[in-house]
Amino acid sequence: MVTVWAVGEVADGKPSKLTLELATTARSLGGGETATLLVGEGAAAAAAEVAAFSTRVMVVETGAPGGPVAASMATRIAALVSQRSPDLLLIGATPDGKDVAGALVGLTDLPILVNGSGMTWEDGAPHVEMSTFGGRLVTRSTFTGSRGIILIRPSSVTAEQAQQTGEVEAIPLDAVDELPPVRVTDRVAKAGAAASIDDARVIVGGGRGVGDAQGFRLIQDLADALGGAVGATRAVVDAGWIAYGQQIGQTGKIVKPSLYLACGISGAIQHKVGVQTAGTIVAINKDPDAPIAEFADLLVVGDLFQIVPALTEAIQARRRGSS
Ligand SMILES: Cc1cc2nc3c(=O)[nH]c(=O)nc-3n(C[C@H](O)[C@H](O)[C@H](O)COP(=O)(O)OP(=O)(O)OC[C@H]3O[C@@H](n4cnc5c(N)ncnc54)[C@H](O)[C@@H]3O)c2cc1C
Repeated sequence: MVTVWAVGEVADGKPSKLTLELATTARSLGGGETATLLVGEGAAAAAAEVAAFSTRVMVVETGAPGGPVAASMATRIAALVSQRSPDLLLIGATPDGKDVAGALVGLTDLPILVNGSGMTWEDGAPHVEMSTFGGRLVTRSTFTGSRGIILIRPSSVTAEQAQQTGEVEAIPLDAVDELPPVRVTDRVAKAGAAASIDDARVIVGGGRGVGDAQGFRLIQDLADALGGAVGATRAVVDAGWIAYGQQIGQTGKIVKPSLYLACGISGAIQHKVGVQTAGTIVAINKDPDAPIAEFADLLVVGDLFQIVPALTEAIQARRRGSS
């Protein structure tokens, strides 16, 4: 029987959204034993929420790590892998997840498949989809052996609760060897950071059609009126109009909002791959033949400098009317 572990991430005693997605993916593989593994400070506090999405939750609570989170997680996960020999580890393709996975490959000798955007289970083996050549080609890969690590991108699936709450197992681990120390010399909170697009239910995206950095004021106002976050294309990130953290697409983030409003965005394939699983896509573009017309649910043909402020005003007026 195949054993699959989803490796979660916890911050301030809360599991990340991706943790719940990985737990859902592990469960959906079926036919084997699945569990979600939480390692780190606050793991115990996060266990109950994760249990609603998992068959089983394994908890290794630690104090605050002395060094980088990934180094302390990786050594403990490697110790558990050597004790219990799971077949597959699903890890989030986040900055910490990639660090953990890289260290685990070195510590366990397990092979790895990276950047998975979807997964199926066929003939007793995982098949992992990866978007390549700017989203023009989706490859499907599997391991030559029966074991390995799979890095899964955020928002590849929608997290769904299990029918039954999973049991929680606290695992006491003896002291483990630490990785060669990496010294964190400073931590800096980014000033003026925009609302995150990672979990936003509504995203208003701006592209080159917005004109310049000032034009993003219109996009921000509409996002504020809708209670959403601002997204962007790579073209405008490269132009320095907005921060990289807001970029959607192949080299940015994959997002899954209920509503994506794309303003002045042509809809290049590299952008599309980041937002194609959004619930509803509405595009505002002055070009009726822009590529985004092929995958938007609704294309409003016109000048965004007229449409966006009018839409913002209409939403604000409706709010005022209902308050
Ligand atoms: C390896 C690689 C990776 C990449 N990764 C990404 C990625 O992660 N994300 C990403 O977004 N791109 C990515 N790109 C870039 C991508 O190919 C496109 O160049 C980019 O998405 C185009 O951005 P845009 O839609 O803002 O600009 P444009 O393609 O220039 O489109 C601007 C649009 O605005 C419309 N417009 C102009 N004025 C108005 C107006 N007043 N009112 C309404 N509409 C107007 C135009 O009709 C046009 O459709 C990548 C490219 C490569 C090669």
